[in-house]
Amino acid sequence: MLSVGQSDLSSLTLTSPSPVRDLNVYLDSIWQKHFPDIPRINEVQIAYGYPWKRRLGLIRLSLDDTISFIGINALLQHPSLPEHVLITTVAHELAHYAHGFGSPLPRLYQHPHANNVVDRELKQRGLGELLCLCDEWIDKQWLAFYQLHRNH
Ligand SMILES: [Zn+2]
Repeated sequence: MLSVGQSDLSSLTLTSPSPVRDLNVYLDSIWQKHFPDIPRINEVQIAYGYPWKRRLGLIRLSLDDTISFIGINALLQHPSLPEHVLITTVAHELAHYAHGFGSPLPRLYQHPHANNVVDRELKQRGLGELLCLCDEWIDKQWLAFYQLHRNH
């Protein structure tokens, strides 16, 4: 059992049998706090997706450009997963949105991860510390966490 980085939301455990980290709350607060200059020019939906082994999140745009969909690895809602991993993952997809990937905004780069543009964006937006914690946790803990929780 991992005990690092218990979520603030874990206090809800007492009143709710299955506390779920509400992605729309995370999306809105991260957007307001770290991406206030990025206009939300279409509908942005966010939901938990498959418990992928090698993917934390994704963003894609509907064919008619009206909806951007952000999918977050289902395992990230688990209360024992450090909250910084969830925040960094949502922010990562928002950085893609800001760069015109999975969004109708002008595309700033040829490839979504060219020259570490996402990591650099997160650092410029005050998320560098969380990014470091997240990378370290993913490196050291993710596979064990995945194996432990994928079937629950
Ligand atoms: Zn990415």
